[in-house]
Amino acid sequence: MENKKFTPEEEERMVTKAYQEMLSGYLQSNHRKKMEIIERAFKFAREAHKGVRRRSGEPYILHPIAVARIVSQEIGLGSTSICAALLHDVVEDTDYTVEDIESQFGKKIAQIVDGLTKISGGIFGDRASAQAENFRKLLLTMNNDIRVILIKMADRLHNMRTLGSMLPSKQYKIAGETLYIYAPLAHRLGLFAIKTELEDLSFKYEHPEIYKQINEQIAATAGHRNEVYEKFAAPVRERLAAMGLKYEMTARVKSAYSIWNKMEAKHIPFEEVYDLYAARIVFKCDNEADEKKLCWNIYSEITDLYRLHPDRTRDWLSTPKANGYRALHLTVMGPDGNWIEVQIRSEKMNEMAERGFAAHWKYKIGEGEEESELASWLKTIQDILDNPEPNALDFLDTIKLNLFSSEIVIFTPKGELVTLPVGATVLDVAFYLHSEIGTHCIAGKVNHKLVPLSQKLQSGDQVEVLTSHSQQPQPEWINFLATAKGKTRLRAALRRDRRAVIERGEKDFAAFLNQYGLEPDNNVVNKVLAMEHLQHRDDLFFMIGCNEIALSDSMIVRLKGKQQASGSLLSKILRNPFANKSKNVDAEPTITTVPDSIDKKQTYVLTSENGVSNYIIAPCCHPIPGDDVVGYIDDDRHVIVHKLTCPNAMRLKSSFGGRLLSTKWDNKREKFLASIHIEGIDRMGILQELIYIISTNMAINIRGLNITANEGVFSCELTVLVEDTNVVTALCKQVKKVKGVNSAARMN
Ligand code: MN
Repeated sequence: MENKKFTPEEEERMVTKAYQEMLSGYLQSNHRKKMEIIERAFKFAREAHKGVRRRSGEPYILHPIAVARIVSQEIGLGSTSICAALLHDVVEDTDYTVEDIESQFGKKIAQIVDGLTKISGGIFGDRASAQAENFRKLLLTMNNDIRVILIKMADRLHNMRTLGSMLPSKQYKIAGETLYIYAPLAHRLGLFAIKTELEDLSFKYEHPEIYKQINEQIAATAGHRNEVYEKFAAPVRERLAAMGLKYEMTARVKSAYSIWNKMEAKHIPFEEVYDLYAARIVFKCDNEADEKKLCWNIYSEITDLYRLHPDRTRDWLSTPKANGYRALHLTVMGPDGNWIEVQIRSEKMNEMAERGFAAHWKYKIGEGEEESELASWLKTIQDILDNPEPNALDFLDTIKLNLFSSEIVIFTPKGELVTLPVGATVLDVAFYLHSEIGTHCIAGKVNHKLVPLSQKLQSGDQVEVLTSHSQQPQPEWINFLATAKGKTRLRAALRRDRRAVIERGEKDFAAFLNQYGLEPDNNVVNKVLAMEHLQHRDDLFFMIGCNEIALSDSMIVRLKGKQQASGSLLSKILRNPFANKSKNVDAEPTITTVPDSIDKKQTYVLTSENGVSNYIIAPCCHPIPGDDVVGYIDDDRHVIVHKLTCPNAMRLKSSFGGRLLSTKWDNKREKFLASIHIEGIDRMGILQELIYIISTNMAINIRGLNITANEGVFSCELTVLVEDTNVVTALCKQVKKVKGVNSAARMN
């Protein structure tokens, strides 16, 4: 991108305007107006960053001002945070020290700036361990002062808003870590608006084409959606007015990212994402005691007018989400037969939903009530930090588990309420109660019925844990645990006899290799370490001993693929999982490697011509041309192409960011195999009809067909040879028109 040039006068005007806008937002807030210190912080930062520019060509100071504005207007924090935001890059980027900040602005602001400096440079370094270490630092500072992480969130949000002026390769990395860490963290902190925007911006840079397409579709359908909404809303307004309620009712549009997520998860087109229609009612309520009752009164008025969807009422009033979210959700059928989701909240609940715990504190100030859900979550994190994992990546995954989970609530026999992630088991409850109870757990009683320790729990279950002194913790228990706390405590217990597990793993590994005529020599062990992205053989044997790494045929296939020259059958299977099934595939292409000196800033063009390819299709997600993909340079300097959505790619992105390449497909297309899953009601002749449409009408080459029919329902796996994703999309569309077919979608 070309740098814009501004005259000093223009720059002066831009900076003053941005600063004034930030200030006027602050002046409208309920905070005490501490103008003097903000003014000083602004002047200090401006002087410190003088003459420095962002990549876009703008004066650097515009960035801290924008961060301060987000901190004040979008998160709702006060003068201390505004000052820290204005100063957040001063220690990192200039000669000023934390001591300088402290002498000018006092201890509190200096501590926050110090925290922000320590976690700067992005959560992810190039090495995996550095990444986890940074993350640990981040969470530790979070315990000191949550404002550090809130300001960091604002910093990231502004960087994402201005990501367009970065290099494409940087864009991928930043968008990736935003989606991997920051968006879940924002969610956990209850910053719903920020979480949504971060996800949407990451999506925009990771899948620019789809992003554009979905936004165009949203715009194109806006008129119709508005009509539907108005018809729905008019009678509701009458009812609410009759109640004497002061309220605001608005139509809500789902974000492009959440629409796309739903399309992907359910394999449905845009038109079928049915809860596109959503409304929100935010009402005024001076007396906190009436909030809940009013929500249910509104609910009752709406369900008098429209038919209620029986399974979609969510009562976040009686049991708020762990991030503090409270509201009443219901889904009703609108006048045109569309399902419409309605969220009902008081103004206070709404502020909480959009600004998270920052808003919560605002209301709690002076009431002495400190013990929030957030505080107890932070305690869990502290717990994990107190039992540091020897493997840095484990630690990261453990934390991530905590960030992503959505919750259920169960009761102990004494009636104590415990919040756990979805999928939590009796064993999780045992470890939640105490390490000793966890390690000696033999079974449980759920609602007075005896169940195994692996039993998954439902919200509302009453759970009792049964223990026995003779019980010992088992490595495979890790599979039954959904809580980070449980996993941490189990690992700690197992580590006590880690040595024994390593020995067992080593023995299992040798015996396994033996079956295939292989020896566990250095060569083989090193290859498996590389395959599993591990560094130490003890870690490998330990994970094998714990069954965390499966000894499967696919390991041998990958191992031999790495050993033999390209062109062998096994390496062929590696590149193309269908190759062994369909004999007609043309001669296996030769794969060229990339030079050490490859320029990662350039977009790498994926080509395949005359039997020579410069990439390998990842066997886990096998993308085809047209898919959004990312390249990963493996140990043999081959470029492995993964779908951007592939979980393995996500992991590689966060751990081996330095080996990533932004890639695009060239326009010359060789054909690829794609699998399509078709389901429907069986009837005479349906197969002939399908084949006729595919091979005669659409002239698509069918390479494999596998049909099973069961009690009138058929399921079909179809393998076809196609140029790109467009052909697959068109094919699915045609197939869905066949009478009896319920669904047709590409398989992964
Ligand atoms: Mn910054």
